Amino acid sequence: MKLTKAIMGDKLFVQLMKSTFYGHFVAGEDRFLIVPTLERLRSFGVKPILDYSVEEDLSQEEAEKREVEASVSSSGASLSGEPASAQFSVDKTFADRRYKVQSARTYFYLNEATCERNMETFLECLDAVKGATFGTGITAIKLTALGRPQLLLQLSDVIMQARDYMKQLAGTHGNVLTHHKTLSDLERYLSNFSDKKEVQAFLDKIQHDKDGILHLFPWSGIINEDCELSDTFRVPDPSTGQMRRLISQIPPKEEEMFRNMIRRLNTIVKAAQDLDVRIMIDAEQTYFQPAISRITLEMMRKYNTEKAIVFNTYQCYLKNTYKEVCTDLEQAKRQHFYFGAKLVRGAYIEQERARAAALGYEDPTNPSFEATTEMYHKTLTECLRRIRILKDAGEDPKKIAIMVASHNEDTVRFAIEKMNEIGIHPEDKVICFGQLLGMCDYITFPLGE
Ligand SMILES: Cc1cc2nc3c(=O)[nH]c(=O)nc-3n(C[C@H](O)[C@H](O)[C@H](O)COP(=O)(O)OP(=O)(O)OC[C@H]3O[C@@H](n4cnc5c(N)ncnc54)[C@H](O)[C@@H]3O)c2cc1C
Repeated sequence: MKLTKAIMGDKLFVQLMKSTFYGHFVAGEDRFLIVPTLERLRSFGVKPILDYSVEEDLSQEEAEKREVEASVSSSGASLSGEPASAQFSVDKTFADRRYKVQSARTYFYLNEATCERNMETFLECLDAVKGATFGTGITAIKLTALGRPQLLLQLSDVIMQARDYMKQLAGTHGNVLTHHKTLSDLERYLSNFSDKKEVQAFLDKIQHDKDGILHLFPWSGIINEDCELSDTFRVPDPSTGQMRRLISQIPPKEEEMFRNMIRRLNTIVKAAQDLDVRIMIDAEQTYFQPAISRITLEMMRKYNTEKAIVFNTYQCYLKNTYKEVCTDLEQAKRQHFYFGAKLVRGAYIEQERARAAALGYEDPTNPSFEATTEMYHKTLTECLRRIRILKDAGEDPKKIAIMVASHNEDTVRFAIEKMNEIGIHPEDKVICFGQLLGMCDYITFPLGE
């Protein structure tokens, strides 16, 4: 592309691009040029999701170089001090994250200044979507555009360890939500610790519901702009009677980079709240996903207090998606925040499978397309069922808002039939449908009408 542009010059190159797939799938190059497309969509009842899709024209070699450089901690160690598990370790073979991915764009980290520029662009997208839709629009963002990916990778590893830790503490197998441990149980369990002050500080951070039942993941501190990761993941270790860091080594510069990423995200979400525009955080590769999902859920807790401003994305090609969605729905219910979810099948299946096979960990994806469809339909049905419960209880049904993001006609039909069967109506405004512009307008436009 770079070469064609150099030969043809800017003007001719843009004309050529517009007459190809680019003109078909792209609404416009800037906030003014998108307006005619958005107006045409609006006349059919279709609202836009603005998705900033500038991708650098990087060679595979350059992409790999940038990714490996950005993925190695300057301390040379994993966050936990232990070697990272295979799934969460950096591997050069898969450093070009575009490998076998067609339908998602990829950001490669260059430096903090580029992340800052990406934030500015997302803020402009929010403004543009507000102006063009009178506050009903949506903007999609990727967390890998806002910070160093190494932090997401390593935080994901620590979050998975922390989950195991909480399971051990709650004494449960399977879904941690089924436990009935209370704060007093935990206090008793940790009563033999020598350093009572530290244990108390840990207990103070643990949330519980009105019945005293513990909430599972006491890591809400990670979205505070003054968060120190090394302090957040300090826990009492029952085997030694001492406090233990789940994260042992994180240089101050990287702590600062993490805070930068969180600050950028907070700035974007706050702007979305002020403009009354919804923001969807895309799901990416599974080795980033525990961190992305956790941060997004904490953003929901913080900002979705009166309506669903922040939406998380759940990839139904993953084996554990139904369980994850149920856990997050339950957290939203117990902690009184609005739950927003975009359900997708998932864009990285071939890469996920190839990476798992090459690095020797369990394939995180469903074994067949049919299993993915079953997971999608089961997850959507659970969300609809819970919306119906809210309606029956006279509560605000909008406490759960779902986007069915799929081009699959059977899934769109399934969603409409289930809505009818369960008694959820378009006027409830809790379910919307999402497709990429130009992918299947024959589904999008009738849905809008
Ligand atoms: C509005 C919108 C937002 C999106 N956001 C995201 C996002 O944030 N993150 C993301 O990852 N994707 C995202 N996607 C892409 C989406 O995940 C799918 O890649 C794409 O939409 C194709 O799925 P489908 O349901 O539309 O179509 P279909 O063609 O019916 O399904 C294809 C999908 O099925 C799954 N699949 C195919 N073969 C198999 C198999 N053998 N075993 C198991 N599963 C299989 C794969 O996920 C594949 O992409 C988004 C899509 C849309 C429309």
